[in-house]
Amino acid sequence: MDEFDFVVLGAGSGGMAAARRAAAHGARVALIEARRVGGTCVNAGCVPKKIMFNAANVAEMLGDASGFGFRAERGKVDWAGLKERRDQYVERLNGIYAKNLERDRVAYVAGRGRIVKPGCVEVNGRQLLAPHVLIATGGYPIVPTIPGAQLGITSNGFFELEEQPRNVAVVGAGYIGVELSGILRLLGSKVTLFSRYDDVITHFDPMLRAHLMEALAEVGIDVLRKAEPQRVSRTENGTLRVCSHDGREVDGFDALLWAVGRAPASEGLGLETLGVNTNERGFVVVDGYQNTNVKGVYAVGDVTGNHALTPVAIAAGRRLADRLFGGQPGSRLEYDQVPTVVFSHPPVATVGLTEQEAIDAHGPDQIKVYSTRFTNIYYAVTDRKPKTSMKLVVAGKDEKVVGIHVIGLGADELIQGFAVAMRCGATKRDFDRTIAIHPTAAEELVTLR
Ligand code: NDP
Repeated sequence: MDEFDFVVLGAGSGGMAAARRAAAHGARVALIEARRVGGTCVNAGCVPKKIMFNAANVAEMLGDASGFGFRAERGKVDWAGLKERRDQYVERLNGIYAKNLERDRVAYVAGRGRIVKPGCVEVNGRQLLAPHVLIATGGYPIVPTIPGAQLGITSNGFFELEEQPRNVAVVGAGYIGVELSGILRLLGSKVTLFSRYDDVITHFDPMLRAHLMEALAEVGIDVLRKAEPQRVSRTENGTLRVCSHDGREVDGFDALLWAVGRAPASEGLGLETLGVNTNERGFVVVDGYQNTNVKGVYAVGDVTGNHALTPVAIAAGRRLADRLFGGQPGSRLEYDQVPTVVFSHPPVATVGLTEQEAIDAHGPDQIKVYSTRFTNIYYAVTDRKPKTSMKLVVAGKDEKVVGIHVIGLGADELIQGFAVAMRCGATKRDFDRTIAIHPTAAEELVTLR
């Protein structure tokens, strides 16, 4: 029997952050992981995705090179070589993460943990005792239960592809669907994106959605609207055929990628026996302090279904550790004003309320919107002239900024600073008082009229 102060299930972003912060406060911590350290973000999410996003950016820039006076050919990407270097980078991170745990004296246990009773976690036949147990097991990509679904892959399978698919069907038009569609298309694949709605990223401000739809068309992604696959089959020539609910059929695909959302990894943890509440989709229900309904059992990150974003899981994990072991009883994560970026081409960046959410929250006569659409100076000499769109949503007499929405080159890098301004309660006047940096895209946000 081993005794600890804190046992954490899952060494992804949330679990690692909570474990290390607790150890920094002097707690004796055990961290259990069945797969690779780093979880989805490091191994099959943010990190390898960002490398592929950057590869696609390079492809775009090679296409622009002649405008800048270079003779460069776009050519064909060496997919296998890129994958090898990407995998090596991820392995390096796995090593760094493992060392960090060692340095912080977190006891790492490889295996699948199960909470057998309050304060007791079983792993590899060993019992770990601790008054505080954290569930940070994350999630996994959903595969629909339709005939032929197993012929497709998920984002996990995408990162295992040794060869670039020639003609891909991407199903689902959320974060992963639009991100991987853009990457595949710019690296040279033919892409058909199945959206069950009339557009894409449907939880975002309509300005961003409309602009992204235009941009997808510009790069040659075929968006099949209001199309929800009902059957997948292999044709005689070995390609895949996708049949939509309304009878539409498209074939010729050599790969199909499911990007229809993620489910919580909450099964097999002993939650039912313990009486931990989960919702109808299996997400662990927590209060504003990450407490489950069972004393001494907490949850953070994707397994809770609350903003499935790495920095949110990290922040929630650290706040929890500060509360439990750092003498900060009020420490908790505020889940409002979470900035987020969709790494589509071009990227989408947003923080705060959409225009409609602001109207619902403050009333239509309290809301004002400032917006602009322009061509980034990067495109001054290139053949293509994609646009950037920005929208500032302000509320009340003092025009407090409550929503910022940007799509275009550089949007991903500029939103973080503006999110700080918003967190500090900036008003439109504060934006106006800020001197612009010229010539940048970001300056447009402080010169809106
Ligand atoms: P999303 O929820 O973003 O998008 C999934 C989309 O697929 C939704 O529009 C969903 O519709 C739709 N859908 C569901 N079932 C079907 C179906 N059977 N046929 C067609 N469409 C369907 O999930 P993702 O898988 O893209 O990503 C999961 C989460 O991971 C994201 O929500 C995000 O939190 C996180 N993530 C963040 C990234 C980032 O920060 N850049 C990148 C990638 C992921 P409906 O809304 O009706 O369910």
